[in-house]
Amino acid sequence: MKSKYMKQEKIPSAISENSLLPSGLGSCCDDDDCLIDIPENDSLIIDGMRDAVSVMLEGIGEDTGREGLLKTPERVAKSLRFLTKGYLQDPEELLKNALFTESYDEMVLVKDIDIFSMCEHHMLPFFGKAHVAYIPDGKIVGLSKLARVVEVFARRLQVQERLTQQIRDAIQNVLKPKGVGVVIEARHMCMVMRGVEKLNSVTTTSAMSGQFSSSQSTRGEFLRLIKP
Ligand SMILES: [Zn+2]
Repeated sequence: MKSKYMKQEKIPSAISENSLLPSGLGSCCDDDDCLIDIPENDSLIIDGMRDAVSVMLEGIGEDTGREGLLKTPERVAKSLRFLTKGYLQDPEELLKNALFTESYDEMVLVKDIDIFSMCEHHMLPFFGKAHVAYIPDGKIVGLSKLARVVEVFARRLQVQERLTQQIRDAIQNVLKPKGVGVVIEARHMCMVMRGVEKLNSVTTTSAMSGQFSSSQSTRGEFLRLIKP
């Protein structure tokens, strides 16, 4: 019961929260084939989220009637919807739309892809860089699509470990390359702001397939190339 919506107009990818969903079915990015499935009952969902935020504000002892908070529930609901818009996108579909036949068979690496995600345990942000590489086996994919796939998975509630593997698996499944390597380095606000309060800790995760796991030299080349 979902309607497929394809965006019409180009807007910058760094957009404000209110330009996304649901009113006006806004574009979420500047990509030509950014497919977003907007649920039919989208405004009902937003209404429910807005009410829930009001309850949370009351729970922390706030006065939901004071001026500064009047529109906060709606803003938070829309902002959450933006931050989790990856649920409305199919990453494998996105890759399938940008495949090209090429004989190039060396490593393709896109490094330093910014990621902004939210941990599923605390719904607090974690953010950092992703590095994605693959070795084609007859097919290459538009380079921006690698960054886009990272984005689709990151814009969901995540743990960094699963995020890393999902990116690898989507690329592996669609391109069927000779191997995929993904490394993510991120800082987690749930560690920085609460709990252990380790301000500068960085978590690194990796997921490899094919030659990246079987060949020491391929893995070594990948890790050498992503060094800052
Ligand atoms: Zn957390």
